[in-house]
Amino acid sequence: MIEIKDLHKSYKMGSNSLHVLKGINFNVQEGELVSIMGSSGSGKSTLLNILGMLDEADSGSYTLDGLPIKNLNEKIAARYRNKFLGFIFQSFNLISYKSALDNVALPLYYQGVKSKERLDVAMSYLEKVGLADWAGHLPNELSGGQKQRVAIARALASNPKVLLADEPTGALDTKTSYEVMDLIQGINDEGRTILIVTHEHDIAEMTRRIVNLKDGVIIDDSKVNQVRALSNV
Ligand code: ADP
Ligand code: MG
Repeated sequence: MIEIKDLHKSYKMGSNSLHVLKGINFNVQEGELVSIMGSSGSGKSTLLNILGMLDEADSGSYTLDGLPIKNLNEKIAARYRNKFLGFIFQSFNLISYKSALDNVALPLYYQGVKSKERLDVAMSYLEKVGLADWAGHLPNELSGGQKQRVAIARALASNPKVLLADEPTGALDTKTSYEVMDLIQGINDEGRTILIVTHEHDIAEMTRRIVNLKDGVIIDDSKVNQVRALSNV
C-alpha cells in the first residue's frame, strides 16, 4: 500500500537547514496497523505529513497504492488525498460552528456527494463510532473522547484506503485514550490500513507493528503482539 525509499527532508531556515528525515525506508501492506514511535522532534509528523501528501520530500520515492507521489499538481494531489487518505489529529480539527453530523459529512461535500446521501452516510459513521445521539451537537458540547470519535467518523466518511493519525490520543486522558484505541483497533480488524504517530509506549503496544524513529532514521521496526486496548482499562 505504501512504499518509501531513501526519503530525505530538510527544513530551510534562512541560511541554515535542518536535516529532519535522513534516509527513511519502509513499506506498509494493506490491512496493517502500524505505529511510528519516537521522542518529540524525531521527525514523526514530518514523515506523516509526507505520507499524507501534505508536504513533499526533498529526495527519495513514495508510492501510494501503486501511484508514484511526485510532482503532482495541487488539483491532482488534492483529489488523491481525498480519495486515498483520512486524517486524525491530536487537536481533532473539527469545525466549531458545525454540528457533529455536518463535520462528518464535510469530506463528502468535497467529493461532490449530494446533500441527502452525505447526511445518510455521515449518520452511519456517527453510529459506527457510537455517537448517533450526538449528531446535532456542536464540538464544544462534546467531551475530548467524543470529539476524537467524530474526527474518526469524518476520516472514515470518504472511505479512504489509509488512515493517518498524528498523536490521536495526545490530548486525552488514559481511559479515554484506550477507548479511542479500541475503536481504532476495531476499524483495523475490518481490514483498514492505519498508521499512528505516537510518543507513548502503551499506545504503540496497541498496534501490530512499531517503527521506531530517532533523529530522522528508523532504528527499529518490529512486529508486536497487539495489546487489546480495553483490556487495560
Ligand atoms: P515530531 O513530530 O517527531 O515531534 P517533527 O517532524 O514535528 O517531529 O519535527 C522534527 C524537527 O523539525 C523538529 O526539530 C522541528 O522543530 C522541525 N520542524 C518541523 N516542522 C518544521 C517547519 N515547518 N519548519 C522548520 N522546522 C520544522
Ligand atoms: Mg509531531
